[in-house]
Amino acid sequence: MATPIGHACAGFVLFLGCTTRRLRTPLFALALVVMAVLPDIDLLYGYAHGTPNAYHHQATHSLTFCLLVSFLAAFVVHKKNRTQLSTTFVFLFAAGASHLLIDAVTLDTSYPYGIMLWWPFDFSYVIAPFTVFLDIHRSSVSSGFFASLMNRHNFVAVAVEVALISLLYGAVRLYAGYAAKSRVVKN
Ligand SMILES: [Zn+2]
Repeated sequence: MATPIGHACAGFVLFLGCTTRRLRTPLFALALVVMAVLPDIDLLYGYAHGTPNAYHHQATHSLTFCLLVSFLAAFVVHKKNRTQLSTTFVFLFAAGASHLLIDAVTLDTSYPYGIMLWWPFDFSYVIAPFTVFLDIHRSSVSSGFFASLMNRHNFVAVAVEVALISLLYGAVRLYAGYAAKSRVVKN
């Protein structure tokens, strides 16, 4: 797994790439960040039962979960802010999918490797054949779990995540600038 910091950065980068005026609100930025982090809620469920990793990378790390939650959240935002339902859904789903993508390209050293991407239709785990992000060293039991996260390896992992996602942000900015210039030239 990558860290919540890396996932949150990915959600925020998506918000920065959103040019729909009605969606350019702090609340929608928060919604994208929450959606990008949400699949890791399975750690809290395991934490409550004494073993944080027991349910990790299962149902909440599936496309089905992301589709359902994104649709529900998009419906609420659409009703509240009169945004276009399809655009709102696409951004929220992209935030959730960014989590799955990042986890799939993160080093996983404990079996079963990867995420249950196709749950509930297929219970096998999926992982990319290459690694981009570092794994996170953490305790397998709830007592001392949060303290176990504070180590040098994890700080390096966060730095790698922020650096790579910042590069992605730079690419988004470059593309947005290029697209804006193209529009001016066409007009
Ligand atoms: Zn995750």
